[in-house]
Amino acid sequence: MIDTHCHVYEEEMSDYKDIIEECDKQDISMIVNAVDIESSKDIISLSKTYKNVYAAIGLNYDTIDRVEEKDLIELEKLIKNEKIVAIGEIGLDYYWTKDNKDKQIKYFKAQLKLAKEYDLPVIVHARESVQDVYDILKEMDIHKGSMHCYSGSLEMAREFIKLGFKIGIDGPITYKNNKKGVEVVKNIDLKDILLETDSPYLSPEPNRGKQNSPLNLKYIAKKIADIKELTEDEVIEITTNNAKELYNL
Ligand SMILES: [Zn+2]
Repeated sequence: MIDTHCHVYEEEMSDYKDIIEECDKQDISMIVNAVDIESSKDIISLSKTYKNVYAAIGLNYDTIDRVEEKDLIELEKLIKNEKIVAIGEIGLDYYWTKDNKDKQIKYFKAQLKLAKEYDLPVIVHARESVQDVYDILKEMDIHKGSMHCYSGSLEMAREFIKLGFKIGIDGPITYKNNKKGVEVVKNIDLKDILLETDSPYLSPEPNRGKQNSPLNLKYIAKKIADIKELTEDEVIEITTNNAKELYNL
């Protein structure tokens, strides 16, 4: 199994080493996502130490206020490291604030351009910004990546799939009353779905409220299997292939 989006590194969780080692025993690999230059460097070093860790590097919305031009130059230097499989997570978030919208858009576009230059997929965060994100991806001709922790409508999910994107499904799919999420999973093809946890956040049931880890991926796979009336093994096999194909693993 591959957790295609998590934040398993020191700053986010103190027991990250134990978790990575336990995942390795259970044959779980992970794409660890950065939010700034510091975490990008940490994750690159983790990917060199652990064979089940791959790196996604990038500057995210929640660190955007302190981002400067020089960070883009630094990011480009880091891209040349081995085991970097994507630029992520990047994107737009209007839930917390729209005040820095112009800066968010500027750096989102700059990183998309970088991904294109280096032919890397992008891992995209969109919260209350789905239309803007879609318009920018389309305008910049980006066709390779995932919509991480997708929470939009079925209609927009289909538009992102048409662009060439995969839809990342996380713990909230297991929450009661997530009718929108269930509708999306039910009506899109399994070949367009990626499993992810967004650890340490968003633990699925039955571990909701506790620290999340890629070890919880099985609960997300099980829920998708229930919704799509498939076996858990079928869901794992197909979504693992989707991840391998997209991220060249
Ligand atoms: Zn994330």
